[in-house]
Amino acid sequence: MAVINVELAGRSYQVHVGQDLLSNAASLSHRFIRKTIVPIVADSNARELHGDRLAASFDAAGKTPVWFDVASGEGSKSWDGLQALTEWMLAQGVERGDHVFALGGGVVGDLTGFACSILKRGCGFVQLPTTLLSQVDSSVGGKTAINTSAGKNLIGAFHQPSLVLADTDTLKTLPVREMQAGYAEVIKYGILGDLEFFEWCEANGNEVIAHDDIAVAEAVARSVAAKARIVAADERETSGVRALLNLGHTFGHALEAETGFSNRLLHGEGVALGMVLAAQYSARRGYISATDADRVKSAIAGSGLPTEITSLNLKCDGAKLVDHMRHDKKMDAGTLPFILLRSIGAAFLDHEVSLDDVALFLNDRLL
Ligand code: NAD
Ligand code: MG
Repeated sequence: MAVINVELAGRSYQVHVGQDLLSNAASLSHRFIRKTIVPIVADSNARELHGDRLAASFDAAGKTPVWFDVASGEGSKSWDGLQALTEWMLAQGVERGDHVFALGGGVVGDLTGFACSILKRGCGFVQLPTTLLSQVDSSVGGKTAINTSAGKNLIGAFHQPSLVLADTDTLKTLPVREMQAGYAEVIKYGILGDLEFFEWCEANGNEVIAHDDIAVAEAVARSVAAKARIVAADERETSGVRALLNLGHTFGHALEAETGFSNRLLHGEGVALGMVLAAQYSARRGYISATDADRVKSAIAGSGLPTEITSLNLKCDGAKLVDHMRHDKKMDAGTLPFILLRSIGAAFLDHEVSLDDVALFLNDRLL
């Protein structure tokens, strides 16, 4: 088992990465349980597949789990979902000093984290992420949010968990497409900040997706360590360091918006395509060589993720995709900083990108 510290003044916490952690959840989290009942917010699939191990752990410790079920899917990160959850927490008598457990992927983690940020002005929570994406990304770093009709993740708060238990055994039931989508965020850490980890991904990516225990453990632990370093340096995304985690997300988000945030393109698939575009655009701007852009693309294609936007059969031009970018949360007084590459393993924020040029670049890719 690996333990990674997220170092934040007054709010530091540990991320445990390893097999069968859910069976030991009660002992690993005993500091955060003050009462007999343990409130658990659970994704419906995660509870069905992995809830028994968690429940058995609490039962053996003389605790009584009480469950709030969340329907699988992005639709649960809504005002209605938030209202139902916070009212349930009040009915359970959750106090500011208590902790609520979140079992599931990013949907349950984001919803529970946000509910805990506002419950009596803030109670504690413990993340039990069960998807690759949530283990390497959303469970760490304290961003919480719900969606509204105006867009995804527009209402939220920074609220750090007190503990994260990433049980890699839970990933064994995850469909391959979800593993691939999560893997996009893994290789992202290599591309944006660590050439050696990128090379490790080139060599081991397929083992990760195939659920090889050793490869998964290393991928999750190294990703969490990378995210922990970045979050510790810039918790609230104010210095530009944390913004680098959005590599591929501006292009990806435009593609997700154009495909209606549907099953046609999962978030990680959008990020994969977005990282290929960011690398190609970095080459267009003269920062990296075409060979390096191709290397990024090959590594991503090798894991079965999409790398050509023509594969989406979009009925739009580059200007339409750029219009979606104008709604990006990074938009700052009329300009949009782009996360580009100086080399593989070194991303930076380029504040001088012209959206008109991005539209022309995308037109070429849409042919
Ligand atoms: P998700 O939570 O929707 O889970 C994906 C699917 O896997 C769901 O159908 C779920 O029911 C199922 N599932 C969960 N665990 C399973 C398991 N062990 N076995 C089989 N099926 C399982 O999606 P996700 O990809 O985990 O997270 C996406 C969400 O995370 C988005 O809402 C996104 O906005 C958010 N996010 C947040 C942050 C952050 O920093 N807070 C970062 C990235 C993404
Ligand atoms: Mg992402």
